[in-house]
Parts: sequence; C-alpha cells; structure tokens
Amino acid sequence: MTEMNHSMEKDPAVYKTLLESTKAIPWKIDWKTMKFAYIGPQIEQLLGWTQDSWQSVEDWATRMHPDDHQRVVDFCVSQSKSGVDHEADYRALTSDGDYVWIRDVVHVMRDASGEVEALVGFMFDISERKKTEEKLAKLQKELEELSFKDGLTGVANRRMFDSVMQVEWSNARRHSQPLSIIMFDIDYFKQYNDLHGHLQGDECLKKVARLLAGGASRSRDFFARYGGEEFVMVLPETDAEAAAVVAERCRKLVFKEQIQHGASPVGQLLTVSMGTATVTPSADDRLEDFVESADRQLYRAKQGGRDQVAREG
Ligand code: GH3
Ligand code: MG
Ligand code: MG
Repeated sequence: MTEMNHSMEKDPAVYKTLLESTKAIPWKIDWKTMKFAYIGPQIEQLLGWTQDSWQSVEDWATRMHPDDHQRVVDFCVSQSKSGVDHEADYRALTSDGDYVWIRDVVHVMRDASGEVEALVGFMFDISERKKTEEKLAKLQKELEELSFKDGLTGVANRRMFDSVMQVEWSNARRHSQPLSIIMFDIDYFKQYNDLHGHLQGDECLKKVARLLAGGASRSRDFFARYGGEEFVMVLPETDAEAAAVVAERCRKLVFKEQIQHGASPVGQLLTVSMGTATVTPSADDRLEDFVESADRQLYRAKQGGRDQVAREG
C-alpha cells in the first residue's frame, strides 16, 4: 500500500490517466480569473464541444438549458462564494443543439489563508437516470388516475366519490350552501344479467354510466360508480328543486335510449330508480347520515314502482 501511494504521488501521469479514463468528467476553474484551468477530454464525446472551447465560466453558463440557467448559475455562485461544496443537476447544451442531463459535483478549494482559490469537480451524465425518473413519475400519475377510476365504466370510483364528498361537504358547511346528491340504482338488473348474459350486462352498465353522467350540467357536478349497478351524483350549490330536475333529466336520458330489457316488468325497457337528498350542513350534521337519507329515498322509489325519482318531504 505504502509503496503504491508513494509511486502515485511521484507520477502525475497516473492521475491524469485515471482522470481521463473515467466516465465522469473532471474540471477545474480558477476562482480569480473565472477561467477553466482544466477540463477532461471526455467532454467532447459527451457534449460535442471541443476540450479547448471551454475557456471561461461563461462557456459553461451559456451552454445550459434556458430553464435551468438562472437557478443553477445563481446557486453555484452563491455556494462557491460561501465556500460550500455543492452539486447541481441541469441540462447541458450539446453542439448539435440537444440537451444532456448533467450532475455537477463541486468542491471548493481554499488557499492557506482560507480564501477561495479554485473550484474542482466532476460532471456526471445522468440522462438515463432522469429518463427513468420521468417514466416513474408518469407511471405514478397513471396509477393515481387508475386508482380513482372504475375499471369497467371509466367513470370515477367509490374511492374518488368519498374524497370528493369530503371536500364538497366541508365546502358547503363553510359557505352555508346547499349540497345535493342523487343515488341511482338500475331496476331489475339481476334479471337483465340472467336474460341477456353477464357480458351484455357489463356493456349495459357502461352505457348507463355514460348516459347518467351526461345528465350533469355544471363543471363541479361529480358522477361516480357507487358499486355494482349503483351510481351517485354530487351536486354542489344545488337545492332540492334543482336536484330533482337533474334527476328527472337523468331518468329521461336512460329511458329515451330504449335499452331492451326483456325481463323488466316496466315496459320491457331498462329503467333507473333515483333517490335525492339535500342539506345545508351545520356543525352537527353527519355526512354518513346524508348519504343514508339519499339511500332511503332510493328505496322509496323502488317501493313506489321503480323508474322514478323520490325526494324527502
Ligand atoms: P332492483 O330493481 O330492486 O334494484 O333489482 P336488481 O336486480 O337491480 O337489484 P339487486 O341488487 O338484487 O341486483 C343487482 C345486480 O347487479 C346483481 C348483480 O349481478 C348485478 N351487477 C352488479 N355489478 C355488476 C357488474 O359489474 N356487471 C354486471 N353484468 N352485473 C353486475
Ligand atoms: Mg342495487
Ligand atoms: Mg338494482
């Protein structure tokens, strides 16, 4: 060991060979003149600019993506001035006009009196890593979207309904605004499956979801699959009268589609029953009770002969 260290100290060519054969690109900037004292020849292979085209920090700063330029230059200058080692990720411009993601790792060298003398560092090509990070972020986003989406019908799922409902509930309470919901349940859907088959049942669910969602008219209205053949609509800032109008519109949208249901006692057509509830929530109202009251109305609509809307009072 001692002998090896000794021989390396004596032979700067060894250092040079080592520095110039790594994938990381070494460089040195003289702090007083702000000029490159050295940059590894590998830089040409990575970015296309020749080794001797790297004269001053200006060459470094201008060969950078405009969106990274300000942030990176400001950061590196302030860190260097305070004598703090640092690293920065940025997109370096290639001679072809493309960009390569670089991580620059910087060490601040001081002289005997503590004054900043030079900056030395390594540039690493991190474009592969950045690509992976971008792919992961995209997957993550897709996953989030999927986890809020019903796989069959493509509308929002129960989980999303729960989240939206929480938000609209507190919002309605804070602003003393009426909040309405409509619960939907397809009539005699078990018989539909039995007669037409489960696959056609699935197709039918997709169609009904699309039709009912079309009954909402405001951008904040929200529609979700509540489960099975049940759906729900959230209508912020909507009173009982207006909610009943929306529900009736939804009922007609499905009826007008004339979906054949051979086993339905309601005129051989597929129909939907609905229950609505409206509240201007106060501190001691509970969200669960509100959803339950819509469910109770839905039950009444079923009792009343189906293919209808039931509301409180
Ligand atoms: P009611 O008029 O009282 O609502 O009668 P119903 O037959 O619709 O009610 P019930 O709750 O007894 O049956 C619901 C049926 O919906 C049973 C189930 O097979 C069917 N169903 C639930 N989810 C799906 C699904 O994803 N695809 C299909 N094809 N059928 C489903
Ligand atoms: Mg049901
Ligand atoms: Mg049903």
